[in-house]
This record gives sequence, C-alpha cells and structure tokens, in this order.
Amino acid sequence: MRSVLDLTLAELFKTKRPSLGNNIPVGLYRIVKHVAFERALGKMSDKAAFDAGVLIGRGLGAKNANELIGMLEELKVGKINVAEQTEKRIVIRVLECISCSGLPKIGKMPCFFEGGIIGGALESILKRKTEVKQTKSIGGFGDPYCEFVVTFRK
Ligand SMILES: [Zn+2]
Repeated sequence: MRSVLDLTLAELFKTKRPSLGNNIPVGLYRIVKHVAFERALGKMSDKAAFDAGVLIGRGLGAKNANELIGMLEELKVGKINVAEQTEKRIVIRVLECISCSGLPKIGKMPCFFEGGIIGGALESILKRKTEVKQTKSIGGFGDPYCEFVVTFRK
C-alpha cells in the first residue's frame, strides 16, 4: 500500500469520473486550502501551500513562460499576465485568482499556493533559483489582481 505522499502528480491528476468530470466548485478547493490547512497547521499553512505549489510548478513540465501561462489558465489558477520581465525579475499578475478572487478583504496575502506554482515553474524553466513575493491580492486587500514578484537569485 502506498502513501498519498508517494503519489506522482500524474497519478493525482488522474480521475475516473465519467459523468462528473474533473472540475469542482472553487469553494471546495478554498475550504481545503484556507480552512483545513489553517486549522491543521496554523501559521505553517502558508508554507505548506507554497511548498505544494512549488511541487506542482516543477512538475508541470512547462518548457517556457508562454507554455506555463497556458497551463496555469488550463488549470484555472487564474488569468495570467506578465507585467514585467527583466534579467533580474519577472512580475506576474493573476486575474480571477482561484484562491482569493471574490473573497472579502482578509488583510493578508492569501495566495501562497499560486506563488509556489509560479516560482517552482520558473525555476524549472529557467534553471535559476527564485524568490517569490506576493505584492498585491484581490481577496487580501481588494487589489484588481494578485501580483507576484519573482526575483532570480544567482
Ligand atoms: Zn489571489
């Protein structure tokens, strides 16, 4: 018997739901992420969500930024815009964010999962270590989009 922790991304994404399909209401995802994680892990829930995102980002297999954007939109993480791209950093905006769009303002950045996916995927694509900081949030602070500044470390 295998632990769920040993399952691959491909195995986790595989479903057998011929009549219901792969889509679920966003609210179900948010309950697991915001409520279950927070209750079980407290302050560590942000790190757990970020680490899960990194795992997914690295495992997506995107070969370039355009492919990554397509994958994130296909996964319905949000609508993705690259606002700035230099040698040192990339600024990515997420509209209709899966974690927070439509939530009342909660006064904190809630989108560690998305930041992890973006950072992990860019590390994998560019073969450079990243540091991700969320600077805007729809649900956290009422911003028009969630924004992630990805800085490249040496
Ligand atoms: Zn968000």
